[in-house]
Amino acid sequence: MDLQERYESVKQQIVEATRSAGRRPDEIHLVLVSKYGTLEQIRELIELGHRHFGESRTQQLEQRSAQIREWLVRRQESGGAGPEIDPDSIRWHMVGHLQRNKVKKTVAVSRLIHGVDSLRLAEEIQAVAARNDRPAEVLLQVNTSGERQKHGITPPAVRHLVDQIDTMVNVSVRGLMCMAEHSDETSVQRLAFERCSELFSEIQKLGGGGEDFDILSMGMSNDFRTAIACGSNCIRIGSLVFQDEGRESESQDD
Ligand SMILES: *Cc1c(COP(=O)(O)O)cnc(C)c1O
Repeated sequence: MDLQERYESVKQQIVEATRSAGRRPDEIHLVLVSKYGTLEQIRELIELGHRHFGESRTQQLEQRSAQIREWLVRRQESGGAGPEIDPDSIRWHMVGHLQRNKVKKTVAVSRLIHGVDSLRLAEEIQAVAARNDRPAEVLLQVNTSGERQKHGITPPAVRHLVDQIDTMVNVSVRGLMCMAEHSDETSVQRLAFERCSELFSEIQKLGGGGEDFDILSMGMSNDFRTAIACGSNCIRIGSLVFQDEGRESESQDD
């Protein structure tokens, strides 16, 4: 399969996963995590109509968002082939662990920061975003798989942190994010996703985070179907779309 076919295939699998969960495909927001991909591939996906991309490292996020913007501006100026694409329509997501010393750069280029997991980090974001004209939008990363090496706040601490961030004028908590333990067993994936989904609904019911608390980011290439069944409305797909094409053609030569 080429890039376009893999992209179409992921979208088709989302349709199927929502259908079997009794949900609608348009409830699911697809973020393509381009960390394994090339700039070339990102451009092709933009031309295919995709707008939401994610990176897990600040430096790459910064570089790529600038390169893509430059490309779109030049493309607009040259009035070349294809429909015009507004450079401002591309949305970058920071999906990885954010270091406090990278907050300034990250806030400047990303539309949504998925991995906020401490009050100190939120405060740092607040300080930086205070100079901007719109609040920084964040998701709280919850460690629902219980693995010690994973980032994220423990489930019992989530509500309090949501309330604390609610008092920050320039940070808006849009929802929760979690990662399941890496496993091909649906039952293992479910443990983490169901817990996070329950927390998300609880907070929504209690009015925490306000009306904008509406994003539940869970599911990656190997577990997004389970995540959709558990209520996810934002999935982060990398390898399934950006898989190494070089390796693919090598194996065909064998
Ligand atoms: C890399 C990454 C993804 C995408 O992972 P795939 O398994 O390649 O789909 C999603 N979320 C986060 C936080 C990541 O770092």
